[in-house]
Amino acid sequence: MSELVISGLEASVGGKQILRGVDLTIRSGEVHAVMGPNGAGKSTLSHVLMGKPGYEVTGGSVTLDGADLLAMPVWDRAAAGLFLAMQYPTEVPGVQLRDVLRHSIATGDVSIDELEPRLLAEADRIGFEHQFLDRAMNVDLSGGEKKRNETIQLAVLQPKIAILDEIDSGLDVDALRDVSRRVEAATEETGLGVLVITHYNKLLDELHPDHVHVLAGGRIAASGGAELAAELEVSGYAAYSDGSARPAAEIDPDWDPFGDATFADRTL
Ligand code: ADP
Ligand code: MG
Repeated sequence: MSELVISGLEASVGGKQILRGVDLTIRSGEVHAVMGPNGAGKSTLSHVLMGKPGYEVTGGSVTLDGADLLAMPVWDRAAAGLFLAMQYPTEVPGVQLRDVLRHSIATGDVSIDELEPRLLAEADRIGFEHQFLDRAMNVDLSGGEKKRNETIQLAVLQPKIAILDEIDSGLDVDALRDVSRRVEAATEETGLGVLVITHYNKLLDELHPDHVHVLAGGRIAASGGAELAAELEVSGYAAYSDGSARPAAEIDPDWDPFGDATFADRTL
């Protein structure tokens, strides 16, 4: 059983405070969805967790199975079992997916002989043509192919905790289903814990979250089950625009702002 514990995490980028005390615990086998308005800091959270340069941690802690992640360089975080599927996967000319996986696998206790069969099996499982495996990392891949590529890395490396930053962006419905099913299978087969960042219920229909959180105002402003995601689809994030920890359930669904004389006095 693994556990990623994010506690009071505060971080800034470019001199701007983005995270103002994020608390979140993700355990093996659990799927946590993080939703929130554009610019709320969802990608910032994923980058800070993985250790992307340029982000300054100004408070709080993050541990993976008790080890202080924030004190580790990126590669040690990966070796410790943290994985990030990026919102915008980087193109790396001249470096094949195989090269990356060979070096990554060498840091663990999986035999290098297992790489090729695993890679081919995973490519088939997710419907990724073998010819793409010989291409330079993400170069000349479509948006959907890049996301399948990220998913193959996840499946081959078998991390403890995976952060998926908008893995659904650029995916058509078939690819969305393939990717979601592969990730969900990993939660059952290898006990993967997942922090999935998304705007869309479509992904959550496939990748059933145990917990749904709203990131707004630099914190987790609300948490709930799958019903919270459904509620957000209807009501949007207006209730969280001031970053206060007000659950969406407090907003009267029958309230008509146009027929409400006190509208001007209401703070949303
Ligand atoms: P989200 O993923 O929730 O849409 P981001 O984490 O990408 O939001 O961005 C949060 C805020 O931080 C935005 O206002 C964005 O412009 C700002 N930001 C992100 N990265 C940088 C950066 N490298 N330099 C300056 N500002 C940044
Ligand atoms: Mg983002």
